Amino acid sequence: MDALTIRNLTKTYANGIRALKGIDLSVEEGDFYALLGPNGAGKTTAIGIISSLVNKTGGTVGIFGHDIDKELEAAKACLGIVPQEVNLNLWETVGNTVANQAGYYGLSGALRQERVEKYLRALRLWDRRDDNARSLSGGMKRRLMIARALVHEPRLLILDEPTAGVDIEIRRSMWDFLREINEAGTTIILTTHYLEEAESLCRNIAIIDGGRIIEDARMSEVLRRLHREVFVLSLKRELTEAPVLRGFETRLRPDCELEVEKGPETDMNELFRQLRDRGIEVASLRNKANRLEEMFMHLVERKGGDA
Ligand code: ADP
Repeated sequence: MDALTIRNLTKTYANGIRALKGIDLSVEEGDFYALLGPNGAGKTTAIGIISSLVNKTGGTVGIFGHDIDKELEAAKACLGIVPQEVNLNLWETVGNTVANQAGYYGLSGALRQERVEKYLRALRLWDRRDDNARSLSGGMKRRLMIARALVHEPRLLILDEPTAGVDIEIRRSMWDFLREINEAGTTIILTTHYLEEAESLCRNIAIIDGGRIIEDARMSEVLRRLHREVFVLSLKRELTEAPVLRGFETRLRPDCELEVEKGPETDMNELFRQLRDRGIEVASLRNKANRLEEMFMHLVERKGGDA
């Protein structure tokens, strides 16, 4: 069964910005899924719509089969959200922050207390239960938001940039915790602009850019494609068709150019040997970043810019 099904989702804000231009996504129950993309790609808008904080312009969203337009309460009961911005009542105690959320989902009495303790312990905040949220460090506030999102034990947990600005040690312990709850059966979707985070945690990945999904595949497949190199060869003579070369993909381009794609298992000597055997002479060669690589270079630049 799908934990999340999104069809042709669009969002145009009042200022005319088209944040989502028709996205489709299916996330299976039990998956650990990354939504990766640069700033402004539309990730937060998509999560806002899924959690019914943002009105969509068009399309449908289903959470475990419950359409958010028709069965909002049932959909919400399946969903826990950890937003990017800290949205805690800072004057509330840590314990009450989680207990109030439990109450909102209809938990009461002993069960409510049990859940509050379970998740505050799991996120190493139990000792701080009587302190105001205000007194917590940034990393603890984020953990408190995770405990709050989990207290009604949602089947789908969505985290928006869970480790942005969190130091490396806390990041790793958060990763361990998320892996554990995923293994225990919770479907997890996270947005990130750290490829390393997606690579370490997620089985499947969608890459969103400019309000469109530009990749939706298994993580291993995306990494494999990322490690393919593309070269553009300028040839001395025009070819009528792209040559078939063992271990390489080739495409003809205008102006006597040939594009050659190679994986890590082949080398350039082999490429030149096969070209020579076919009498193809090369005048010059340049490296062409593939689309994914360009995307990630762009992300790294942005990340550098944010720091
Ligand atoms: P991401 O989370 O990937 O950084 P967002 O969903 O926040 O992307 O933003 C997508 C686009 O929508 C951006 O161009 C952003 O400026 C615009 N946007 C986001 N929120 C609003 C809003 N409340 N009003 C107008 N434009 C918005």
